[in-house]
Amino acid sequence: MPEVREQTTKTVKDLLIPDTILDVQQTTCCIVGGGPTGIVLALLLARQGIPVMLLEAHKTFERDFRGDLIQAGAMEIMDKLGLTERLLAQVPHSKTGEIEFSLCGQTVSFADFSRLKTRHPYITIIPQVKLIEFLTAEAKRYPNFQLLVGANVQQLIEENGIIRGVRYRGNGGWHEVRSHLTVGADGRFSQVRKLAGMELIETAAPMDLLWFRLPRHPSEPEGLRVRYGSKRVLVTYNTSDGNWQIAAVIPKGSYREIQAAGIEALRQSIVEVVPEFADRVEHLKDWKQASLLSVQMGRLSQWYCPGLLLLGDAAHVMSPLGGVGITYAIQDAVAAANILSEPLLCGNLRISHLAAVQRNRELAIKVIQWFQSFMQKRITAKAVQADNSLKLPIYLRLRFLSDLRAKLLAFGVFPPHLKAKYRL
Ligand SMILES: Cc1cc2nc3c(=O)[nH]c(=O)nc-3n(C[C@H](O)[C@H](O)[C@H](O)COP(=O)(O)OP(=O)(O)OC[C@H]3O[C@@H](n4cnc5c(N)ncnc54)[C@H](O)[C@@H]3O)c2cc1C
Repeated sequence: MPEVREQTTKTVKDLLIPDTILDVQQTTCCIVGGGPTGIVLALLLARQGIPVMLLEAHKTFERDFRGDLIQAGAMEIMDKLGLTERLLAQVPHSKTGEIEFSLCGQTVSFADFSRLKTRHPYITIIPQVKLIEFLTAEAKRYPNFQLLVGANVQQLIEENGIIRGVRYRGNGGWHEVRSHLTVGADGRFSQVRKLAGMELIETAAPMDLLWFRLPRHPSEPEGLRVRYGSKRVLVTYNTSDGNWQIAAVIPKGSYREIQAAGIEALRQSIVEVVPEFADRVEHLKDWKQASLLSVQMGRLSQWYCPGLLLLGDAAHVMSPLGGVGITYAIQDAVAAANILSEPLLCGNLRISHLAAVQRNRELAIKVIQWFQSFMQKRITAKAVQADNSLKLPIYLRLRFLSDLRAKLLAFGVFPPHLKAKYRL
């Protein structure tokens, strides 16, 4: 990265350089994190012939939990990449055309995707691990793409105030990757963000989720539904392997209390919300079957410093509400590739290019996070006090708002358009 035209006040934390570095590799773009942001950016740059190295801390892409709702905005990007047909042929998936709310004895449409003008007027439900594996296999077709798994990035290489790459641990010791640009795409607990001394401005999320599955009878209607009971709110949707995925919304920090009340109390609260589940809640025998997922939300005021750019959840932690994080992460990658590939190819990348990526995506992120925050407050308020005598709130009664919400969740405001050069 030659001339740095703008200065930043961010400082890189003191680094203790390891005594032994087993090897030093050189690339043009080093991406930390093999989630949706990292893999899509790597694929786009690889298609442009840019040397790119993707470092993933885990040895496989399997995780305890990764969200699996993909919006139309992301599927349209897959279309343009020429990947949709193969993806859907290879990976088991299902679809849902609507997010519904069941409360006050009624079911209303929260977001109706079926009326969107798109090839994909629905949410596609794909196990995220399968999506990542598919995209990785696609990127591997390009000789200038390199994937390092089990590569846990723990240090940034900084020279004269510019990030020149990373040091990672893996394969029996320390290694160095030197690069013109380093991208932190390492998710909501981003190590790169911490190492660069960038601080997340957090928005309080009033809820956590208890995440578990129950069997689904084939005759039961598919769909994604937010269901209100007097004590609890449950989000349910059908998975591609024939189960119900269930997220029980709980007030933040209340897990210990819920656990102390016992698994039978949890089962009863589920049946109170969805009486049909009475014939299968016994499947929930142990707390190990239910993961506690802490909901967080926040964003950086500045996504970059010389030589370094943060994207996806590393730059803006998304709440699971509405199932948009993967789509927005993929859109970040598209915006970054559109803006950065030319300067990376020509070797004239400047910090103003990194600033342009943030400018391109910031408004969309602010709008969706405002919306998620608005909805989270309302959902958790009802989780504590729902009662069938409540009136349907106005934001659920107006049909045109359902269409508007579907558009926002599916595409966001000002979605980036993939330039023709990335298409096959
Ligand atoms: C409970 C929950 C449910 C969700 N459900 C959905 C959903 O259904 N649909 C949706 O669109 N969004 C959902 N989201 C949000 C979505 O998961 C994120 O917005 C999205 O995964 C962000 O992608 P990312 O690539 O930026 O980060 P991540 O997907 O978090 O990927 C980051 C990657 O970086 C790796 N990494 C971390 N540290 C290092 C390191 N030091 N060195 C190397 N690699 C490292 C990690 O192992 C990981 O593979 C959900 C979020 C939560 C919390």
